Amino acid sequence: MLEIIPFTLGPVQTNAYLIADPDFHEGAVIDPAWDGHIILAEAKRRNWRIAHLWYTHAHFDHIGGAGAIADGLNPLPLVALHPADHVLWRAEGGAPLFGFKIDPGPEPTIDLVQGQILRLGNVEIEVRYTPGHTPGHCIFYAASAGVCFCGDLIFHDSVGRTDLPGSDPDTLVNSITTQVFSLPEATRLLPGHGPETTVGREKKFNPFVGNSPSA
Ligand SMILES: [Zn+2]
Ligand SMILES: [Zn+2]
Repeated sequence: MLEIIPFTLGPVQTNAYLIADPDFHEGAVIDPAWDGHIILAEAKRRNWRIAHLWYTHAHFDHIGGAGAIADGLNPLPLVALHPADHVLWRAEGGAPLFGFKIDPGPEPTIDLVQGQILRLGNVEIEVRYTPGHTPGHCIFYAASAGVCFCGDLIFHDSVGRTDLPGSDPDTLVNSITTQVFSLPEATRLLPGHGPETTVGREKKFNPFVGNSPSA
């Protein structure tokens, strides 16, 4: 069973997700956005040990809470990121460009790859490689829970920015059509910003992926 605790944190209202298979008391944080002490306190309250930090991508607003989480943990959580975003990670996720400073926390040591299976207790989570917003963007699909954590790939009625260094709009649309629209229509999409949506809804209405806004 997968339990999901969402948070909206930081200067650009980024969604972080604390997840666990509660029978195993072992948790992961998908995109520890900001204010790591808040996420850490919630995990401690539930008696979950945060063992993993899984990054959809390395933008500063998705990793800004990692340092504070790691400061409260021994052993340190293992950090997973696609290698194509390591350069961005080393540049503090672009924080200086936006006038911010972050503590990026422990170095990523797990390389995410397309099709990789991550395990949390009895739950399996599939990694799907979805470049476009950043070169190393990935999404995390938990089939047994019917959810996909999709970072800044696709939002309710919108998509991730493609005007930033390393972004590419055609690549982003291709990632959505091949990696998101191939999931069951009822799959819940839990994005990096804004409210959740579903695959079926975005297939029908998302104006950035082959739908006209007035249709
Ligand atoms: Zn981003
Ligand atoms: Zn973001």
